[in-house]
Amino acid sequence: NLDIQVSIPSNDEIGSLGKAINDLAQETNRYRTKRREFFANISHELRTPISYLKGYAQVLKQGLYQSEEEKLQYLNIIEDETDRLVILINDLFDLSKMEEGKIDLQMSTIDLTEVLESALFKVKMEIEKKGLTLKIQVDESVPHIEADGIRLEQIFTNLLGNAIRYTEKGSVVVKVWNADKKIHIMIEDTGIGIPEKDLPLIFDRFHRVEKSRSRELGGTGLGLAIVKNLVELQNGTISVNSQVGKGTRFQLSFPVAE
Ligand code: ADP
Repeated sequence: NLDIQVSIPSNDEIGSLGKAINDLAQETNRYRTKRREFFANISHELRTPISYLKGYAQVLKQGLYQSEEEKLQYLNIIEDETDRLVILINDLFDLSKMEEGKIDLQMSTIDLTEVLESALFKVKMEIEKKGLTLKIQVDESVPHIEADGIRLEQIFTNLLGNAIRYTEKGSVVVKVWNADKKIHIMIEDTGIGIPEKDLPLIFDRFHRVEKSRSRELGGTGLGLAIVKNLVELQNGTISVNSQVGKGTRFQLSFPVAE
């Protein structure tokens, strides 16, 4: 840590310089702590699947299973954990590119409803498998927006994926409407909800309400950080409302294309 603490003897220029130095030292320390936490998180997240891979590979190598069925179960775990590693590495790569401003967005004038439809098609099976109801309400004519179709779809599949992941029964509601020269999108679920104290943090990298639940359900804790970055890179905004036990609502807006 930067161990700087200037004493401020006066209220003049020297005094304010002293205060500026103290503020800077404090900010630097906050940044360093965040960085340290981030790297600790990454190594933990990488180590967990790797230890499963190693453990189950050893079990198989030593023939420590009772039946072919059990063997298949272990192989499935190895496959799942490998998939998880690939997702995690891709997410990390995406995030670091975005944060350095090095991601190339292919912006064009697009019909957001088509992109949404394609995202909904991809998650339809998951929704059916969980017995959830999907309700869609889209304005008759929705003006085009300026965006990157692939990245926009990534935003939708991510938010829809979360809505499904954290909802046991009830519905996922999607609404799209046009107001104040903006297109608004709402994705709402009747799931477990997010405690008020976590709400300001859920867009942070690796922040999860329940680590084990998120992991069990295939989450990496990076989804919403990526979503927020992608939304803002496309000149949009995102906000969240939630009530524990009732459900969660994400709302996005993008400016209508000129
Ligand atoms: P994860 O991969 O863990 O889902 P995200 O960054 O997508 O990571 O989300 C961060 C955390 O926010 C999740 O771990 C979960 O606790 C909470 N969360 C996100 N979306 C929802 C939702 N629709 N309902 C309840 N909790 C949610």
